[in-house]
Formats: sequence, structure tokens, C-alpha cells
Amino acid sequence: MNSTAANWIQVAKQVAANPFVKIPCPNCGAGYLQILIAPWPNEEPKVDVHLICEHCGARNTITREAEVGEKMPQ
Ligand SMILES: [Zn+2]
Repeated sequence: MNSTAANWIQVAKQVAANPFVKIPCPNCGAGYLQILIAPWPNEEPKVDVHLICEHCGARNTITREAEVGEKMPQ
């Protein structure tokens, strides 16, 4: 695992703690990440967290367990 991947994992933890937090991009450090949370389209209690830098366009997707109440109504 390289250091950038480790940084993205830190980002994922911050998003899990507070989905509305503003997180600097771990790639360029100049922009903030847009956060899109997409529940899985089935009964799996998981969500894909899409992180997209508005400055350099770096993106990453992290899959994690959904919090209670986070899954969107179908
Ligand atoms: Zn960036």
C-alpha cells in the first residue's frame, strides 16, 4: 500500500465520522473533495463512497458498511 492509498483511507474514516466534513484532496492538497454516497442497489447494507477532487479531478471509491438509517429508500 502506498502513502496515497493510506491517505484515502484516512479520508474515508473522516467521511464516516462526519459526512459533511470538508476534506482537502490527498492528491493535490489544493482542492476539496466532493463526497457522493451511493447505497448498494440490493439488500447488502453497504454503501459506495465516491470521493472526487473538485480541483485536480482525483477520484476514489471506498466501499463500507452502511450506518443504520443511511440506506436510501428504494
Ligand atoms: Zn486534488
